[in-house]
Amino acid sequence: MAKEYLNYIDGKWVPSETGRVFEDRNPSDWEEVIGTFPKSSAKDVVKAIEAAKKAFPKWSKLPAPKRGEIMLRATELLVKRKEEISLLMAREMGKVITEARGDTQEAIDTGYYAFGEGRRLFSRNAPSELPDKLALTILRPVGIAGLITPWNFPMAIPSWKIFPALLSGNCVVFKPATDTPACAAEFVKIFEEAGLPPGVLNLVTGGGGEVGEAILTHPDIGVISFTGSVEVGARIAEIAGKHLKRVSLELGGKNPQIVMPSADLDLAVDGVLWGAFGTQGQRCTATSRLIIHRDVYDEMMDRLIKRVKTLRIGDPTKNETQMGPLVNEGQLKTVQEYVEIGKKEGASVAYGGERLTDGPLAKGWFHAPTILEGVKQGMRVEQEEIFGPVLSVIKVNDLDEAIRVANGVQYGLSSSIYTKDLRESMRAIEELEAGITYINAPTIGAECHMPFGGVKKTGNGHREGGWTVYEIFNEIKTVYIDYSGTLQRAQIDTDERAKISE
Ligand code: NAD
Repeated sequence: MAKEYLNYIDGKWVPSETGRVFEDRNPSDWEEVIGTFPKSSAKDVVKAIEAAKKAFPKWSKLPAPKRGEIMLRATELLVKRKEEISLLMAREMGKVITEARGDTQEAIDTGYYAFGEGRRLFSRNAPSELPDKLALTILRPVGIAGLITPWNFPMAIPSWKIFPALLSGNCVVFKPATDTPACAAEFVKIFEEAGLPPGVLNLVTGGGGEVGEAILTHPDIGVISFTGSVEVGARIAEIAGKHLKRVSLELGGKNPQIVMPSADLDLAVDGVLWGAFGTQGQRCTATSRLIIHRDVYDEMMDRLIKRVKTLRIGDPTKNETQMGPLVNEGQLKTVQEYVEIGKKEGASVAYGGERLTDGPLAKGWFHAPTILEGVKQGMRVEQEEIFGPVLSVIKVNDLDEAIRVANGVQYGLSSSIYTKDLRESMRAIEELEAGITYINAPTIGAECHMPFGGVKKTGNGHREGGWTVYEIFNEIKTVYIDYSGTLQRAQIDTDERAKISE
């Protein structure tokens, strides 16, 4: 019997008003149903928003250090349940267990950071231009936050949004991706157990078109934080623009790794294997383009092909597995289509290129790690986000060309260069159009206390992670305290007072 999950609204686990449900299946074995989940509608969203509104006055008045203590309790519960949740993640979306543990750990780290932030939430003061007057800023929560997340980091990404939103005093309506609602429900249960008051955090599962849009368009949602594709992000920006809502968008990537002649090639191979095929390439920061200097091209490709053959593909719940399945059939089809597109465009398959169905892989959405050679700038496999285990390799003549190729896409999330030359590293840091640049490390590996986000079509200028995410979930209020006992007019009385004191 599949486990029946429910929505969490106003501190209670409830079915959808619609009575409809959807199934969530294991991508390694489609016969296993992880659970059934409410296929909610706008009515459920309205209920969740009403609950959040009701809870807001009290929650936002609770001192931030006290809110921080609840974040700490939730984090400690996450620590306790790390293995169980990570295993669920491996079953629910196919991330191999070693990486799933990392995903849960990122949520733990983010929780600890939020606890600390409860005693910081720094704002500023500055001298007033008038005497006997204080000028300062304080932070106020925005109100009700609508959080919409993708499936590829089922714990980490929700944690990047939920912890800072709550710590800042907002109430939340959370809609996870339909491929990972079980992880989302377990996360919400942890907050319930940690003693979060009813209505402060609400979970509504269901489709983007129905539940997502109902959140976006509701007048009481003050801030939307979205992570997902450029297409949906653009739609959200349009709706948010119309309703004048604050919105933070973390979107796709087409991340390059550059390899220069002085690079440690074995290190560069380690980096690209991890960057391109970790989470089966389904990371926004995945390395999807390998840009190699012609002087080391053959050697680098040789070593890469030798190593890619050794990747162990199979059951993601086993410790020894290095690659699991794609998240669903649709994602597998997309990858297969892109391999065909690449071939038609003139690329050749240096490794992989096909679906894997042997033995235990027969009932899953497995695809071989795939390396496309002879890729040229402008080809679709070089320009478009595939979100799968497909690496496009481009040969270049020098660093100028490498940077030109790296920058020649609509995205700008992560980037990497392998070189021992300081000047080349510094040029990469300054010239690569990306929110993140790694030197001698792969394009993946963000740490939760540092800003995370991208330029160009990867986002709209916000940064999650670290101290910067708190800017998304707080309004700045400027406060003037005049204790002079007289009417002091800014810009007008300034000169008069200066004269008096002469
Ligand atoms: P997606 O855009 O299809 O879905 C993301 C979320 O939006 C899901 O919860 C979905 O149900 C919801 N949604 C869909 N249509 C909606 C609508 N009209 N209104 C409101 N919500 C809607 O993305 P996905 O397939 O879940 O995730 C993969 C994408 O996410 C990739 O493009 C990847 O690069 C991106 N991503 C970006 C980051 C980042 O931080 N930059 C991190 C992870 C993933």
